[in-house]
Amino acid sequence: MTVRGGEDESWDVVVVGAGPAGATAARFAALGGARVLLLDKAVFPRYKTCGGGIIGESRRRLSEHALATIEEDVAEVGMSLRFGDLRHVRDDRPSVAAPFMATPFIAMVQRERFDQANVDAAVEAGATFRDGTMVRSLQQQEDGVSVGFADGPTLHARVVIGADGAGGRVGRYVGAQAARTDFGLEAELPRPAAYTDDAVLLDWGAHPGTYAWVFPKRDLLTVGVIERHGHGDRTRDYLDAWMTHLGLAVGPGDRSSGHLTQWRTADSPLRRGDVLLAGETAGLLEPWTREGISFALRSGEWAGAAAGDMVAGDRTAPARYERRVWAELVPEIEAGARLLRVFERHPGVVHRLLTRIPAGRRLFVAFCRGDASLAGMVRHRRVRGLTALLR
Ligand SMILES: Cc1cc2nc3c(=O)[nH]c(=O)nc-3n(C[C@H](O)[C@H](O)[C@H](O)COP(=O)(O)OP(=O)(O)OC[C@H]3O[C@@H](n4cnc5c(N)ncnc54)[C@H](O)[C@@H]3O)c2cc1C
Repeated sequence: MTVRGGEDESWDVVVVGAGPAGATAARFAALGGARVLLLDKAVFPRYKTCGGGIIGESRRRLSEHALATIEEDVAEVGMSLRFGDLRHVRDDRPSVAAPFMATPFIAMVQRERFDQANVDAAVEAGATFRDGTMVRSLQQQEDGVSVGFADGPTLHARVVIGADGAGGRVGRYVGAQAARTDFGLEAELPRPAAYTDDAVLLDWGAHPGTYAWVFPKRDLLTVGVIERHGHGDRTRDYLDAWMTHLGLAVGPGDRSSGHLTQWRTADSPLRRGDVLLAGETAGLLEPWTREGISFALRSGEWAGAAAGDMVAGDRTAPARYERRVWAELVPEIEAGARLLRVFERHPGVVHRLLTRIPAGRRLFVAFCRGDASLAGMVRHRRVRGLTALLR
């Protein structure tokens, strides 16, 4: 869809990118009473390379639309170390719905349907959505921001929210700095009839900080690997070996794609003038698991509410947004980076802690359920002692 109207088209809030961060920001800005335009360069519904794992912290923030896209509630995570020593982690508490079954603690979505549902919720809240529309430039003006497109016309926004994902243009405009960029590779295949395992599978890889996964969906398996950016062949070899180990193969027509993922430096900015950043363009992602959806949903919600307040004349709103990200998300990112450092050096120890030590299993399940934060965990006396020892 092309943008019409030029300079005379004016909005309170323009949100760039309609992933979980942008769609949530648009929803909350619209709920606050602002006139909101949500833009995405892709034509929706669009695929995003992502496991689609939804932890409790994400789940409790979802709209009814997005909740309806949950395909599987998973009660078991199998963990292996370099394809060996497979052990399963469960929530030992009995399920309320089915007393003799394990309690699910992580949910699965397909991003194509999930992201469309988040957009639907934003539109229902009053936002206007235009897909197939790529933002090329931003320019701060006295009374807001001019938003430019490839084919010439511009429009005016009182506030812009940049939610254009890893390496996004708006992040670059604001000056966002990545502490590190990783590269994820994924295949999405129809679930073979012989594949009856309903567990999420994780494998801790041979190279520092790498891991592989299988995330089971209703009719699909999302199979992927992640590693530090810059080792493309090695990453591909790991995915091939993982698929072979599982007895899976990519068929013609199956999805196979890669995507970068990144987290921020300690002082990476969240704002420039009337432009706020949310989600992964701001490097809001947990470095150990590379979980980013809960960070996108939380920062999107707060940025959208702040934008609504800015439109209503509240000059303190942007600083409040920054403070909240600093207080609630940055400690999680720092804790994740600390755990990643330990995991990179001692994957075998981490594997044993998560699979053989009851307290380790309980912490992992509590994190997935959204009952425990990583920052809280690394503050725990024993975990603090252990991470210091293994540093
Ligand atoms: C392989 C892999 C697996 C992952 N698995 C998980 C997982 O299981 N669970 C989890 O929580 N996280 C996972 N993540 C991380 C998660 O996918 C991201 O953190 C999350 O999607 C970030 O959301 P976002 O809204 O900030 O950005 P995105 O979801 O990336 O959305 C950005 C949007 O902006 C649009 N856009 C970009 N540039 C422009 C432009 N110039 N103009 C207009 N639109 C633009 C794009 O088309 C896109 O739709 C994974 C990441 C990778 C790479």
